[in-house]
Amino acid sequence: MARITLTDLTKVYDPGGEAVVAADDISLEVTDGEFLVLVGPSGCGKSTTLRCIAGLEDITEGSLEFDDQNVTTYSASERDVAMVFQNYALYPHMTVRQNLGFGLKLSTDLPSAEISEKVDAVAEMLGISELLGDKPKALSGGQQQRVALGRAIVREPEVFLMDEPLSNLDAKLRSDMRTELQELQQDLGVTTVYVTHDQTEAMAMGDRIAVMNAGELQQVGPPEEVYRSPKNEFVADFIGSPSINLFDANVNDSTLTGPGGFVYELEDASPVESYDHVRVGIRPEDITVVEESPNRATVTVVEPMGNENFCYMTLGDVEMTARIAPTKRPVADEEVAFTFAEEALYLFDPVTGESLKTKTDDTTPDLTTEVSG
Ligand code: ADP
Repeated sequence: MARITLTDLTKVYDPGGEAVVAADDISLEVTDGEFLVLVGPSGCGKSTTLRCIAGLEDITEGSLEFDDQNVTTYSASERDVAMVFQNYALYPHMTVRQNLGFGLKLSTDLPSAEISEKVDAVAEMLGISELLGDKPKALSGGQQQRVALGRAIVREPEVFLMDEPLSNLDAKLRSDMRTELQELQQDLGVTTVYVTHDQTEAMAMGDRIAVMNAGELQQVGPPEEVYRSPKNEFVADFIGSPSINLFDANVNDSTLTGPGGFVYELEDASPVESYDHVRVGIRPEDITVVEESPNRATVTVVEPMGNENFCYMTLGDVEMTARIAPTKRPVADEEVAFTFAEEALYLFDPVTGESLKTKTDDTTPDLTTEVSG
């Protein structure tokens, strides 16, 4: 097991002289035994960062340490990491048993009886004992993924590195495997860095999540903290489903005005003191549909989710989403009055995107007691 420390890690690809800074000055510590998820949109540098940790890419600048050992220039095989990829890359001509044992056979001088014992133990842990004699093509996607995972586990590495390992599975299996993988990681206690573009997966799995954008680390923290107190508009927008509602507003003393006649009187105007306009953010679950309010939006569509409804609306030219009680079913083109608590309001600098105000209280309304209207 190991602590992983990235210090000012930078990776520049230079294909034909057009430099791409794929990872830009990343400093990050993954604690021993932690499950850390690197998350961000496609192309933001997650895989590059992971591949630098694995030793599959040279680090352009900065350093990488496992515990107190500087491994920046170590080759992949010297780093004691095991990787699991999106495409399982199982050897098609080998049985599951041979696939599981191959890494150990290659990299250790363990006698084959001992390798076989380890393979049996891991197969049992993953519930694939009865498949040991099968070839990969006889297995389902989920079973192949288990074998790929088993291949990493059997090596007993210091570090697991996983790059979108579940993205080839269907939704139900993916969600089952998420839980299973998390439990497995907890039991094994192996420090894990997991890459995904799926913020729901990141939120569900990570002890902490590290949000990246355009090669830069935006914020690192426990999922609920990142959700609640995003450092900037990018993080606020990226984390959360449905996404936070965001729009421009003008500031006049303590009054915010915005699209579609939006008007909001702030009790505490100190966050916007030096601004004449800001970006406003409000999470879908913090919007309450009420009988009377100066703020009115027009319903476009309502999606029933069973335990709640997603209500899509327009406020002037801005699209908004509200999560409302399942008993409420406003119809298309209906105007609904809505409000929200100031404690639930997010405000961002309109130029830098830096947060000026995040949620200050646990104000999310209970959908079951919402006023009917
Ligand atoms: P992510 O994993 O977040 O989707 P990547 O780390 O794969 O992002 O890519 C980050 C950036 O680096 C992208 O702009 C991508 O095009 C570029 N990139 C990735 N690999 C290479 C490479 N081998 N050569 C040149 N550019 C690359």
